[in-house]
Amino acid sequence: MAEDQRSYDIAIVGGGINGCGIARDAAGRGLAVFLCEQNDLASATSSASTKLIHGGLRYLEYYEFRLVREALQEREVLLRMAPHIIWPLRFVLPHHRGLRPAWLIRLGLFLYDHLGGRKLLPATRSLNLRQDIAGTALKDAYTRAFEYSDCWVQDSRLVVLNALDAREKGADLRTRTRCTKARREDGLWVLSIEDENGNCETIRARALVNAAGPWVTEFLTKGLGLNAAAKVRMVKGSHIILPRLFEHDRAYIFQNSDNRIVFAIPYEQDFTLIGTTDEDFEGDPATAEISRKEIGYLIDAVNGYFKTEISAEDVVTTYAGVRPLYDDGASAAQSATRDYVLKLQGTGNEAPLLNIFGGKITTYRRLAEAALEKLEASLGTLGQPWTKESHLPGGDFSWDGAEQLASDLCRDFPFLERKLAQRLVRAYGTRARDLLGKARSLQDLGQHFGADLYEAEVVYLMDREWACSARDVVWRRSKLVLRMTREEQAALDDWMSRRRATSRGDAAE
Ligand SMILES: Cc1cc2nc3c(=O)[nH]c(=O)nc-3n(C[C@H](O)[C@H](O)[C@H](O)COP(=O)(O)OP(=O)(O)OC[C@H]3O[C@@H](n4cnc5c(N)ncnc54)[C@H](O)[C@@H]3O)c2cc1C
Repeated sequence: MAEDQRSYDIAIVGGGINGCGIARDAAGRGLAVFLCEQNDLASATSSASTKLIHGGLRYLEYYEFRLVREALQEREVLLRMAPHIIWPLRFVLPHHRGLRPAWLIRLGLFLYDHLGGRKLLPATRSLNLRQDIAGTALKDAYTRAFEYSDCWVQDSRLVVLNALDAREKGADLRTRTRCTKARREDGLWVLSIEDENGNCETIRARALVNAAGPWVTEFLTKGLGLNAAAKVRMVKGSHIILPRLFEHDRAYIFQNSDNRIVFAIPYEQDFTLIGTTDEDFEGDPATAEISRKEIGYLIDAVNGYFKTEISAEDVVTTYAGVRPLYDDGASAAQSATRDYVLKLQGTGNEAPLLNIFGGKITTYRRLAEAALEKLEASLGTLGQPWTKESHLPGGDFSWDGAEQLASDLCRDFPFLERKLAQRLVRAYGTRARDLLGKARSLQDLGQHFGADLYEAEVVYLMDREWACSARDVVWRRSKLVLRMTREEQAALDDWMSRRRATSRGDAAE
């Protein structure tokens, strides 16, 4: 076993949005940062979200004003920080006569418009569904609606871009590497880590951050042998993806009779994303999958609104994830708090341990700032917050400049179809040019794997963004899973395995 004695300021366990967000912030402050992720980046909850950067309109009903305010403020901060993978989205909320009264919705939306200091996003307005195209897909009973703003995010790319920026700022990130245990020794944390090939290593750090998401308690009790600082409430949420159900670019938010809401969102041009559910979950979070009951629930919810009925046979694909919520003792899963709670353990000279419970993709940047502020109590000053005015890799352009960027790309690489240029801009922003390099024709992009995926992109993802398997490429770093056949995905997987084996061989020589 290789015994390495590397020492860091902060070691982070978990490469979801919270772990990677903290790694980026800390590395940007000049700290020596280590992060390990047992699988691929964003392989758990952070790729299974509804993908909204939102204040959370329904949380107002649970009086979560702190969370809603912070989340609303973050919308425009994140939009400016990553305008390639985040964009504004309008939501149509039809008024349902049997459910919340119009005055209550109007009041909620008034607060929503004003709590968070909105500057870029347009305000709420009322819609006459008999005249607006948004009414065309809906049953005739729906005549009135409200329309408000939030944003869309490519969740797993947000994680990868945080990881990439952290690495560019000096952090040591290891994917497919599990922290099997950690113990305190001489005022430091000593972590045992093991990679996918069984190679073990020991690293030391002044502080340990447990950002293991749904595994937060398991890592605390089994990996560290400590008592849980708080309880996590695991709440499963699932989504279904269908062929496009309506012909405009706004999303719907439907009220359901059980007091929950369900979204129907335009997805990847040709599809509609429908979600989500709230079900208490037990067992290994890695095994979470949608149940038949959930599929039925989501279908019933939208069939109450759309003219054209959908059925389970229409479902193209599904995904499910487990929310690692802070257990505040709420009775129903849907009412458990979505706010984050940071629990610091370690007294006197003991090396500090920070456990992350709950949180939203939307508030990850603020969570990272709060985490470092907590650690300052033990580690001394950790520098100034800096991420608010920053750009994520490839996001150094105007918040509404993506279409212009695609046009510029088409001008400079005339062999690109506009659709491909748009997809590359929406994934890599200004860094799409690094990927295209000196290519003068499609042939220069190398082997074609199906849909509009070429070797140059796969190589970029493997060399710069930790992609190791076809799933990493088609599910998380892109959504090409919706456009590539199983055979094409298998061939891509083979190709990537061979390339990995060759580069391991080269490194060994
Ligand atoms: C259905 C659903 C919809 C949602 N929708 C939204 C939304 O629209 N907007 C929003 O803002 N938020 C949303 N959320 C919430 C958001 O997705 C989560 O709060 C967030 O992704 C949690 O991130 P995390 O980093 O804490 O956990 P995770 O993403 O789960 O990351 C934890 C990581 O730790 C790794 N790990 C665990 N143990 C170890 C170990 N021993 N060694 C190494 N690695 C380890 C895991 O593999 C995992 O990748 C949604 C959540 C769900 C489930």
